[in-house]
Amino acid sequence: MNQADDLWQDFSKPIVTADDYFSSLRGRDMNVFFMGERVSEPVDNAVIWPSINAMAETYRLATERPELGGVRTEVRGRPVNRFLHVPATSDDILNKHEMQRELGRRTGTCFQRCVGLDALSACHSVTFDIDAQAGTEYHARFLKFLSRAQEANVVIGGAMTDPKGDRSKPPHQQIDPDLFLRVVKRDEKGIYVSGAKAHQTGAVNSHWLIFMPTMRMTEADRDWSVVGAVRVDSPGLTYIVGRQTNDTRILDGGPMDAGNAQFAGQEALIVFEDVFVPFEHVFMDGEWSHAATLVERFTTYHRSSYVCKTGLGDVLIGAAATAADHNGVENVSHIKDKLVEMTHLNETIYSSCVAGAAKSKKLPSGAQINDEMLSNVAKHNVTRFPFEISRLAQDIAGGLVVTMPSEKDLQNNEIGPLVRKFLGTKEGLDVTDRMRILRLIENMTIGRNAVGYLTESLHGAGSPQAQRIQIARGMQAEMKKALAKKLAGTKSSSKES
Ligand code: SF4
Ligand code: FE
Repeated sequence: MNQADDLWQDFSKPIVTADDYFSSLRGRDMNVFFMGERVSEPVDNAVIWPSINAMAETYRLATERPELGGVRTEVRGRPVNRFLHVPATSDDILNKHEMQRELGRRTGTCFQRCVGLDALSACHSVTFDIDAQAGTEYHARFLKFLSRAQEANVVIGGAMTDPKGDRSKPPHQQIDPDLFLRVVKRDEKGIYVSGAKAHQTGAVNSHWLIFMPTMRMTEADRDWSVVGAVRVDSPGLTYIVGRQTNDTRILDGGPMDAGNAQFAGQEALIVFEDVFVPFEHVFMDGEWSHAATLVERFTTYHRSSYVCKTGLGDVLIGAAATAADHNGVENVSHIKDKLVEMTHLNETIYSSCVAGAAKSKKLPSGAQINDEMLSNVAKHNVTRFPFEISRLAQDIAGGLVVTMPSEKDLQNNEIGPLVRKFLGTKEGLDVTDRMRILRLIENMTIGRNAVGYLTESLHGAGSPQAQRIQIARGMQAEMKKALAKKLAGTKSSSKES
């Protein structure tokens, strides 16, 4: 048995249901920390659990709606989960986006599983390209890994963002070489990597991680030009789970103040210390000139994956409309207009993602990829519109979003009746329903899930400037000037004409 066979042994029974998924996370000997303490069993940690439950929703969707959560291709008599299917047609990408919007609607947060899919999709074509150029065998290794992942139906996490240190310097010039993940040692069986990956979505909730370079590399960065897959419970990995706004409200007793007690996202800092990767799971090793293509393809996929935020937008629009109903202002014209504006912004995001899927193209490996310009435009919309949608939601909801008494006040014998009396608005409306909707708006716009809806929308898959650079590269200003000059009939041949 080779090294890779060994590593897959624990996954011989496929993970099919959400319960299978929860069980699969138990008993792993992982080095996880949250708020300065080791977390021996993340599934049983009340603050981490909503993020695990959001990931579990991807399994629920696949069993409840196999046509959306899975693809036609079957493995062991069941459809391959769509999160493990490298898109091969435009329809595959469109269906992926429909699935992402649906999961955003169901969870109101980041369900975390797209990064791994987009890493798989980018690796499919880049391993193919490297082999074609260098005669290596990465693509076959990758396909074997992919089919094992599909059979076991595991969660693959994607780990791209290095800590990066001094942004003006490439990896080999950093004061600490670990500021970018790199190969530190080799033996006859594989490589050993050290460094870290920051802001890693769903890291603790995954089964495997694919690590990839985060930017263009130079020849001197050969050791940092590495792609591979590791089990999340590999020796040498440490996870430091990120703090989120209001995350510990879930511990306050009663779910109401959490706003969305069922679902949340998760990011972690992953530290790699001499982590072994057998050659069977190494998909790039020193081919530095392919790092830029890998990053560009990953971001092209992932920037459109942010269609997920339209599902969250649907929830927030619904919450704002319900808050308006509760206040008796549902027919006031400026309220209706604000809901229309929110919808327009949300559907603008959706339309750019769908357009990028419709205009997708096939790569030599057979993988289909979104249109690069439209994908960057889509993500750039996402860096802005959720902020405006959130502003409008707070505008409609009113200041009570941030001044409302707690669930504990409601339960207090002395002041509970006062809270009920003075938050009452309409015959037949339970005051706690009004409070729940306002807490949900708080959760999504300044609370725990604003991490996913707002700041992740800003920085995830690249901060706004990263998209502007790509948009500038593709904007074809000279071609457009020529169009204008032709119609205007300019005479001079110089660029200034
Ligand atoms: Fe998926 Fe959206 Fe979360 Fe990224 S932010 S992993 S695209 S749900
Ligand atoms: Fe993300």
